[in-house]
Amino acid sequence: MASVELRVLGCGDAFGSGARFQTCFHLKSDRHSLLLDCGASSLIAMQRFGVDPGAIEAIVLSHLHGDHFGGLPFFLLHAHYVAKRRRGLAIAGPAGMASRINAALEVLFPGSASLTWRFPLQLIELTPGQICALGGLRIMPFAVDHPSGAPALGLRLRLGRRTIGYTGDTAWSEALIEIARQADLFIAECYSPRGNGKHHLDWQTLRQRAPELAARRILLSHMSASMLAELPKLDLGPFEPAQDGLTITL
Ligand SMILES: [Zn+2]
Ligand SMILES: [Zn+2]
Repeated sequence: MASVELRVLGCGDAFGSGARFQTCFHLKSDRHSLLLDCGASSLIAMQRFGVDPGAIEAIVLSHLHGDHFGGLPFFLLHAHYVAKRRRGLAIAGPAGMASRINAALEVLFPGSASLTWRFPLQLIELTPGQICALGGLRIMPFAVDHPSGAPALGLRLRLGRRTIGYTGDTAWSEALIEIARQADLFIAECYSPRGNGKHHLDWQTLRQRAPELAARRILLSHMSASMLAELPKLDLGPFEPAQDGLTITL
């Protein structure tokens, strides 16, 4: 079985810290090409790193904050007007996603929410605990703790014979242990060096919980300016810092 390649198209936070693009990961197997999250800058990042938007079959969203789904209006309008896409596109994400995507389209490009897309667009709402099969991709969503106007999800994805776990944005949650279990790669947000236990993960918590995160590799993402400043001083142990453009073959 061929490998799965993960390319970091964006591992930044919402605030442009470290001049990083907002969250977006490209997953590619011999048969499939998909995005995991689609922050506002994702179409630019795709152009920067040579990823063809037309080849993307599915976009999986962890939660509905702009640095994770704000790239969709640009992606969709590019597909419609520029690429003149015909192949279908599936977007899987939290309940309530359809109205939030339409609202984002409408506020950014008035009239676009009522466009008849040139391509079949399928919106799939994910329910925590229920496996969703999407072509060759299997998605297991978990409820996590991150207020974003809709349920926030941690995700465990199975593509080919590889498993990728992803925290999304969240305060520490016991669900993360299950998401990481024997994953080939676990992507963990690590917003700050020390947190207050609310909304986001922090380095201190991840370091302390490391023995419970039984993934083969753990990638740190979504770092704030203060976390990036501390990074060179830290003994990272089993954690690897993400950077835009990084490619990992699983
Ligand atoms: Zn968020
Ligand atoms: Zn975020």
